Amino acid sequence: MGEVRDRFWELPLGELTRPEWEALCDGCGRCCLHKIEDEDTGEILDTNIACRLLDTQTAQCSDYRNRKAFVPDCLRLTLRIVEQVSWLPSTCAYRLRADDRPLPGWHYLLSGDRDAVRRAGVSVVGRVVSEVDAGPLEHHITEWPAPRHWPARDEDAGL
Ligand code: SF4
Repeated sequence: MGEVRDRFWELPLGELTRPEWEALCDGCGRCCLHKIEDEDTGEILDTNIACRLLDTQTAQCSDYRNRKAFVPDCLRLTLRIVEQVSWLPSTCAYRLRADDRPLPGWHYLLSGDRDAVRRAGVSVVGRVVSEVDAGPLEHHITEWPAPRHWPARDEDAGL
């Protein structure tokens, strides 16, 4: 993480520096999953199919720096995009802050624990398949459950 201000995540999104913006991401990986838009209703349906560059065991992009070369339509989130799109999950730190809501307790900036996002049931780690192996999108429509109550007990998290 680059130079960031104390409790920067409480500032309006538009005031964040580049390092602060990058550091706000909780690493859940959900924005790297394919979605389906219902042609009739415009509803966005989630799937459990991940971008080919997503490491499904860590929820990290395997080539973040060069991702555009492999996935030209990969979006770099900006304030304008966060305010416009409907497909970011309700737990997304950018969505929450854009709505002036606080980060959840499991967010690593509050918990100090990068793995808390997984134990809260929010991360895609181990729950998705790569588009390379998946087959038809329509067979993978998924409803992601709400986050677990936090602080979570490890036994509730299946650990
Ligand atoms: S959904 Fe939001 S918080 Fe989760 S990885 Fe994507 S940008 Fe980060």
